[in-house]
Amino acid sequence: AIKSTIRTINPATGKEEKVFDIMSEAQIDQIVGQADKAFKSWKKTKFSERAAIINKVASILRERKEELGKLATIEMGKLIAESKAEVEISAQIFEYYAKNAEKFLADQPLETPLESAFLSYDPIGVILSIQPWNFPFYQITRSAAPNIMAGNTMVLKHASNVPQCAKIMEDIFHEAGLPKGVYTNLFIPGSKMEKLAADPRIKGVTLTGSEPAGSAIASMAGKYVKKSTLELGGSDAFVVLADADIDKTVQAALNGRLWNAGQVCVSPKRMIVVNAVAEQFTKKLTELVKKTKVGDPMDSQTQLAPLSSEKAREDVLKQVQTAVTQGAKLIYGGKKIDRPGAFMEPTILTEIKKGTKAYSQEIFGPVFCIYVVKDEKEAIELANDTDFGLGGSVYSKNREHAVEVARQIDTGMVYINHVTGISPELPFGGTKNSGYGREQSPAGIYEFVNAKLIRIT
Ligand code: NAP
Repeated sequence: AIKSTIRTINPATGKEEKVFDIMSEAQIDQIVGQADKAFKSWKKTKFSERAAIINKVASILRERKEELGKLATIEMGKLIAESKAEVEISAQIFEYYAKNAEKFLADQPLETPLESAFLSYDPIGVILSIQPWNFPFYQITRSAAPNIMAGNTMVLKHASNVPQCAKIMEDIFHEAGLPKGVYTNLFIPGSKMEKLAADPRIKGVTLTGSEPAGSAIASMAGKYVKKSTLELGGSDAFVVLADADIDKTVQAALNGRLWNAGQVCVSPKRMIVVNAVAEQFTKKLTELVKKTKVGDPMDSQTQLAPLSSEKAREDVLKQVQTAVTQGAKLIYGGKKIDRPGAFMEPTILTEIKKGTKAYSQEIFGPVFCIYVVKDEKEAIELANDTDFGLGGSVYSKNREHAVEVARQIDTGMVYINHVTGISPELPFGGTKNSGYGREQSPAGIYEFVNAKLIRIT
């Protein structure tokens, strides 16, 4: 059923914070029309003019970091320190594209025996961006910063549980001086998006979210011959080799998996540990997990925040139960915490069998799945035995060797001795069912531009 409202429910308290009406079809039509109209003048602006506005967006984000951080925590529950860090990384991404877009999109001369030829990178029009709630500010930034700098305009549909973050970002763009229509927020449920992707004024579609949503929206884009990029789920392998520094590796596993209460597409969801160090790894990790402080995400001492909603918690608990029913061993946790809000215990599972749901599904919560393998070869096979292909990491004191292992993992990103992370200048994206296309880095700005050939005789 189509929701008639879009609501914020604080996941730490269960309290309803704010309600927004969904937009009517007429309103949406008017917004898309305005974005299309704005494109005609925005594409002609100079890079310096765009950069001044985008740098201003970054400085407003920094000035209002406390307030914005609190808002993200209230809406989707993450730890306040994580919320503030997210505002900071978003500011950095805006600055990165403000600084580099002109260089990335400069005419590119082509080597040719003919007289002369070059590529001109032209913006293409209105981009429809559909984003998830787990990083309410950063997810907007990843698609908006490069596209606005490239001269495109954007209509953005955020997840239905983070409307205040969505609204405040739109206000910040306008406060920074972005002309009306260059970036506009859409309050509509996901179920109404496919129709919008078909609108001839929309020239490209980018979605971060689940596989069903991505598949639905990309099918529609394909039908109407539009480019799409998809950043979907992941089940990243965290490969621990026999010569890993176990203490540091355990700490990386803990921080990586508890980050955002486990609701990160590149969270290390499968810890694949070679037999030689498996007992030590599991013992040390279990000790730390047992000490984890779960609680109020506004409290700086808290290590594990609530999940983003009651439904998200129910889904994860059900996945854990099913894993156990299907033969996995529960080492720790697995229950909800008896207090208001969507809290659950950090959980450790092991002995997960091939063919069971826990083996193949993404678990979007604070659940450590430990797989013990005979050796490195088996570790690589298991790392690749998934439909997902987003990120991953390899732990070893021998960095050169770890790179050789990384080369054999079929994902878009592999980090050595660090969980997959985020940095403006590094590309982010996956392969296999984790989607296609890249965000951030130079690659992120070439997704929705027309690399037009001009040949001169
Ligand atoms: P989701 O249900 O797919 O929601 C993501 C966005 O898509 C929301 O804005 C949602 O709107 C919208 N949506 C839902 N159904 C749609 C449809 N049929 N057509 C078009 N849009 C639709 O995803 P989620 O479960 O909330 O988010 C978690 C998933 O995102 C995980 O799988 C995670 O791994 C993935 N993720 C990936 C990355 C990455 O970069 N690869 C980053 C973060 C998250 P409503 O809220 O209105 O339903």
